[in-house]
Order: sequence, then structure tokens, then C-alpha cells
Amino acid sequence: MALVEIRNVCKFYHLGGEEIRALDGITLDIEAGEFLSIIGPSGSGKSTLMHILGCLDTPTQGSYQLDGVLIHEASTRQLAAIRNQKIGFVFQFFNLLPKLNVLQNVELPMIYSNVGGRDRRERAMAALKLVDLENRSKHRPSQLSGGQQQRVAIARALVNQPKIVFADEPTGNLDSNTGAAILDLFRRLSTEGRTIALVTHDPSIASITPRRIEIRDGKVSNEVDPRLAGLSPKFGHLTAGQGIPPAAGEA
Ligand code: ADP
Ligand code: MG
Repeated sequence: MALVEIRNVCKFYHLGGEEIRALDGITLDIEAGEFLSIIGPSGSGKSTLMHILGCLDTPTQGSYQLDGVLIHEASTRQLAAIRNQKIGFVFQFFNLLPKLNVLQNVELPMIYSNVGGRDRRERAMAALKLVDLENRSKHRPSQLSGGQQQRVAIARALVNQPKIVFADEPTGNLDSNTGAAILDLFRRLSTEGRTIALVTHDPSIASITPRRIEIRDGKVSNEVDPRLAGLSPKFGHLTAGQGIPPAAGEA
């Protein structure tokens, strides 16, 4: 069984008598340890898909199984627990709490899962060490650069040791050098065995992941998967672009 299994997932919105098919029949498996990107132009359905995969939203139709749990049948309360324990999120605008310091921001997911104070601090410091920010634990977010704030958000996403991390346009608010450093960090975290899905409209960002799923008009329009090409099954350990044909539309 794959870590993520979605089958024929649809999300429809109704606005002023018009039906908007944000997702229109997506079927997808993600195995533990994969490093993949979900790519498509603005409005193609990427964020909607990530919200469903991240249990922030539920599909109109279709089924979703995450780590053996039928998500489409879970209650709101169960979904909150699953999000907290199995999923890490990284967003374009970091979403750190401005009044908390760096350490407290990273501790937050563990407060929701009732980890004791001392354990919390130790684990938060370990997560900050992973992103090379142990020396900024007492700073407020506003005292950090954009790249540092995003690294704090990544530490927060990792602190409960989630099964999968979703990053929605994680470099969208950073200059290109800082963005490249953040992508390098994701690559390193992937080689250490974590499961990471990057959501992006930018083919040059998607090109760093071995597997790429292209979404257009709420459907999978193209997929680059090293497994289907008979390449190494250790997808997380391929380097960028190695042996992988470019995705359609990618120069
Ligand atoms: P992307 O992240 O690829 O830019 P989205 O998933 O945000 O795309 O949106 C996909 C489509 O669904 C777009 O046409 C968008 O306008 C529509 N959409 C998204 N959220 C809503 C909503 N809450 N109500 C109505 N339409 C929505
Ligand atoms: Mg989006």
C-alpha cells in the first residue's frame, strides 16, 4: 500500500449558477520516501489538490487513503489529529506567528499534540538544528530574513516527524539565491528519507524533483516518473534531472 492513495478525486465549486471543476478526477499514489513536484499554471488546481492531500479540505467525490486511514470518511476531529501528526506544511508566506519567538513557533505543533515542555524544547531545538538555525531560537520572525523565516517554517513542519511534507510555492516570496538555498534544503531533507511534495508553477523548481505531476484544468496532464522509465527505485536519491526526460512545456 502506498503512503498516499487518491482515486478519482474531484472538487467542484458552485458560484453564481456556474460549476467550477477545480479538480476533475485525479488518481495518484505517493510512496514513502518520494520527492515529487506538483506543477501547473495558475488556476490549474494545485492548491486545491494540496489542501485535499493535506487534509485541510475534503473532496466532492473520490477516495483518499493516507497511511492506511480512509480520509474521506474521517471526522473533523480525526482530520485535525491526522494533520497534526502525519502532515507538515510549508507555505509561500511562511505563516509564522509574529508574537512568538522562533523556538515557540517550532514548538507549536507539539503543543497541539500534548508533548511535555522539556521534550518540546529539545525536539524544537533538534528541528532548528536540521535547518541550521539553532542560534536564532530567541529571535522574533520579524528579526529574520525571508529565507531564515522559511527555514523556521520548515523546522516547524518537520518537528512532529510527519509522514509527508507539502510545500506550496515555498520559494515564491524569496529572491532567487535564497530560493535556491531553500530548494537545496528540501533536497537534503529528501536524501535523508523524508517524503516531500513541492507545489509550484515554475518548471525550473519542479526540475529538481525526480518525479513530476503536471496538473491542467484539474486533471493530471502529464507525469514524469523515474519508476515508469525503469530507472532507480530510490527516487529520493536521484540528483536533479539525472536520466529524466524534461516534462512537456519545459525547455
Ligand atoms: P492553483 O493553486 O493551481 O493556482 P487553485 O487550486 O487555487 O489553483 O484553483 C483551481 C480553480 O478552482 C481555479 O479556477 C479557482 O478559481 C477555483 N477555486 C479555488 N478555490 C475556490 C473556492 N473556494 N471557490 C470557488 N472557486 C475556487
Ligand atoms: Mg495555488
